[in-house]
Amino acid sequence: MDHFRAEIPNHFNLPRRIRKLANLAYNLWWTWNPDSQRLFSRIDPILWEKTYHNPVQFLRKVSRPKLNAVTHDRYFLDFYDRIMRSFENYLNPEKTWCSDNYPELKNKPIVYFSTEFGLHETLPIYAGGLGVLSGDHIKGASDLGLPLVAVGFLYTQGYFSQYITEDGWQEANYAHLHFEELPVLPIIDADGNLVTISVELSGREVIARLWEVHVGRIPLYLLDTDVPENSSKDRQLTSRLYSSDLDLRISQEIILGIGGVRALRVLGYNPSVWHLNEGHSTFVNLERACEMVAAGHSFEEAQEKIRDSSIFTTHTPVPAGNDEFPLWLIDKYFSHLWPELGLNREQFINLGLQKHSWGETFSMPILAINTTGQYNGVSELHGQVARKMWSFLWPERRVEDVPISHITNGVHTTTWLARRLRHLFDRYLGSEWIEHIDDPRMWDSIENIPDPELWAVRRHLKRRLVAYMRERARNQWLNDNVHPVQIIAAGVLLDPYILTIGFARRFATYKRANLILRDTERLLNIVNRPDRPVQIIFAGKAHPADEPGKLLIQEVYRCVKKADNGGRLVFLEDYDMNLAHYLLQGVDVWLNTPRRPMEASGTSGQKAAMNGVLNFSVLDGWWREGYNGTNGWAIGEDRDMENPELQDEADAESLYDKLENEIIPLYYKERSSDGLPGEWISRMKESIRTITPLFSIKRMVSEYTEQLYMPSINNRSTSGKAGGK
Ligand SMILES: *Cc1c(COP(=O)(O)O)cnc(C)c1O
Repeated sequence: MDHFRAEIPNHFNLPRRIRKLANLAYNLWWTWNPDSQRLFSRIDPILWEKTYHNPVQFLRKVSRPKLNAVTHDRYFLDFYDRIMRSFENYLNPEKTWCSDNYPELKNKPIVYFSTEFGLHETLPIYAGGLGVLSGDHIKGASDLGLPLVAVGFLYTQGYFSQYITEDGWQEANYAHLHFEELPVLPIIDADGNLVTISVELSGREVIARLWEVHVGRIPLYLLDTDVPENSSKDRQLTSRLYSSDLDLRISQEIILGIGGVRALRVLGYNPSVWHLNEGHSTFVNLERACEMVAAGHSFEEAQEKIRDSSIFTTHTPVPAGNDEFPLWLIDKYFSHLWPELGLNREQFINLGLQKHSWGETFSMPILAINTTGQYNGVSELHGQVARKMWSFLWPERRVEDVPISHITNGVHTTTWLARRLRHLFDRYLGSEWIEHIDDPRMWDSIENIPDPELWAVRRHLKRRLVAYMRERARNQWLNDNVHPVQIIAAGVLLDPYILTIGFARRFATYKRANLILRDTERLLNIVNRPDRPVQIIFAGKAHPADEPGKLLIQEVYRCVKKADNGGRLVFLEDYDMNLAHYLLQGVDVWLNTPRRPMEASGTSGQKAAMNGVLNFSVLDGWWREGYNGTNGWAIGEDRDMENPELQDEADAESLYDKLENEIIPLYYKERSSDGLPGEWISRMKESIRTITPLFSIKRMVSEYTEQLYMPSINNRSTSGKAGGK
């Protein structure tokens, strides 16, 4: 990186005394330090909301008198100095978890590839769980001091924003992002020229620019093909996530994989470990093989070396969810490559060959398994499912011996924890609690928090959620020309003082958003009881090409619009990380009803738990490991059922039964001494105490380091090569 820079532009015209706000704006550190967000919002709270918490746009737009005003405000300046000190200390630590535990990792870069990164709502380069996990992974790596660099895409249109018609149909809006208003920096060379790389796509050269995002101490490099040298069609290659057009999709994956390696080389990196998060970036291994073959190795030798230094994490428990391409597309994009690798067509195709009853395809996860050395799923149950699903690649082994391990997902605590709870933890868990997030014993101190204080914060967070929803509904009413019933569906009749259940996730059919609607009469009885009312908030996007997912949204929306639920069922449009914060922090119960075992892990319930929200979920993914009988509730039993119809029936019965007989009575059961729901609060503390350390990103990233990164570095990977290849 000596001669390349990602320079912070000098376009803000800030008063000298607070000019370092620009550095803060361009480092996403501020996203997980809520006090530093207050620094911006104090200057102009209305503009801060209007710019959707985007400090770069905010600093470009804020008026000079407002900036001048704070430079005369002693309190503001003290606050500013305190935040800047902790920011600078973070960037230049004396020691870190990594320097203490793995000093040998110094100067051994680990590169992490993903198609999406969910870091903050203003950078909409993520679709959902996978992206948020990638974002949390690099934030966690930053906290631990790992020498990690990440590679992904800067999509020019980002993921879509969602709008629901009066009839409940999801419409997608794509905005064109203005990069100069985002916390991304172009990488330039010594002469100030943009740094680019190129890849060959079916006979033509496609150019991609390089961008950098500072995520604490970690650089995230993003590729984007929207440059004048490319044809107008190629300029759009990186405009959106997850196209269903396979030609476009394979082109993107070639740019990410092959272009990603070239970007790292241009920037001067020689990574020691290559971590492929999901199969989309597996073409990385082909580019690395080309490099080695060009340097004189045979393909077999190259394959061996690549295996020793690479890791593949799978997230997909259903065969149909995997990334596969028809063979003609492989011919179209790779026929020039196999001679370079010293392979013939058949040998090349065999690297990713998937045989179906109806024909053959090229599978990205199979390519990943054949070319990386270590594989993992993302929860214990998902590990089992993945071993079974891929066991055909190891015909000589028993399913239990298939070498796919698991590391259960976790979440970046300080990104997801409400500011007020963080202050409460600062007070009662000891000022160093963040250093010990993954230590279960430290969390025993949760008992020190007086019930009334914890409950007061919970009530505040729910009022904040309801107020926010009403403001959104008001804006819709003012600006969007919607039908009045849509305003009711958006939550204006919500009550900030009653039991509130949240259900927010991608609308894929296996997530069964409609499970709770199965017996409408029973549900209406539950929500409308005058003495113990309940309200339910739904949110989530369906993939724009997923018609069944969109029909599911419509089914929920039609139910939400009916007068007989009294405005107690609500659908919130445009679920993203911002809305996720309000919901996960504001509701009382977090509902999750996937059809087991299709939820590889899930993470939203982990975010909810640390905020004192109780999980009520099918024993799938992480919850099967997190549930201990007293820290939330389980829907159904710890087993899979053969017949999905019977499973739905049984799970719905279990859901209504627990809701009516356990959850609602417990919430409304007040202690005579102080009128608080004492048993509910105990369960809440039990949930925070047991779940927060175990499902923290710190536990997760340290496991990746110990179990996968270090063995790769020491070339000790227990290479579980797929058989027969
Ligand atoms: C955490 C999160 C997800 C993933 O949650 P699941 O539990 O997998 O449904 C998806 N979208 C957003 C915006 C999130 O914050």
